[in-house]
Amino acid sequence: MDLTNLKYLVVGSGFFGSVIAERIAQDKNEPVVVIDKRSHLGGNCFSQIDEETGIEFHKYGTHIFHTSNERVLKYIKRFTALNSYRHQVLTVYRDRVYQMPINLETINSFYGLNLRPSVLITCRWAAISAGAATSTGYFSAAASG
Ligand SMILES: Cc1cc2nc3c(=O)[nH]c(=O)nc-3n(C[C@H](O)[C@H](O)[C@H](O)COP(=O)(O)OP(=O)(O)OC[C@H]3O[C@@H](n4cnc5c(N)ncnc54)[C@H](O)[C@@H]3O)c2cc1C
Repeated sequence: MDLTNLKYLVVGSGFFGSVIAERIAQDKNEPVVVIDKRSHLGGNCFSQIDEETGIEFHKYGTHIFHTSNERVLKYIKRFTALNSYRHQVLTVYRDRVYQMPINLETINSFYGLNLRPSVLITCRWAAISAGAATSTGYFSAAASG
């Protein structure tokens, strides 16, 4: 490849390099060459389908795309489809598995209770913080309520 008169050479086809190259090509309407030492695009965000199971996985560790910016999301969706991955963290304590971060299910599993979301709306946590109730009082009241 002759790069003699090339104005833009992007090294690395990860998120950064890919976006820069696309912007140069689209906004400036200029030729741009992207090179990468890896055999694929996407840098550390690269994912592929496992041939045996058909499950998509991230080669360099799980990547979750976060944004609250509608413009960014719209931009990304022009180039890829996002799957409906749901993130769940679990932890093990004394040979039992619990959900993290701590939520109602964690409390139920840990204390052997069956609290429902509606019960917690009583805002007893605020009372506990203010010293108006103990955690034991909270749990027994909630369990019976
Ligand atoms: C395990 C892990 C989990 C992560 N999870 C998340 C997540 O959930 N959400 C999130 O937003 N971010 C996550 N990140 C961060 C995310 O990977 C980076 O922010 C993002 O990949 C950075 O993009 P980049 O283009 O700057 O670099 P990279 O993705 O690292 O891409 C750089 C590219 O440049 C190439 N390159 C480097 N040097 C040369 C060279 N000399 N010649 C040719 N090519 C070269 C590399 O091969 C690579 O393809 C995670 C990172 C890791 C490691």
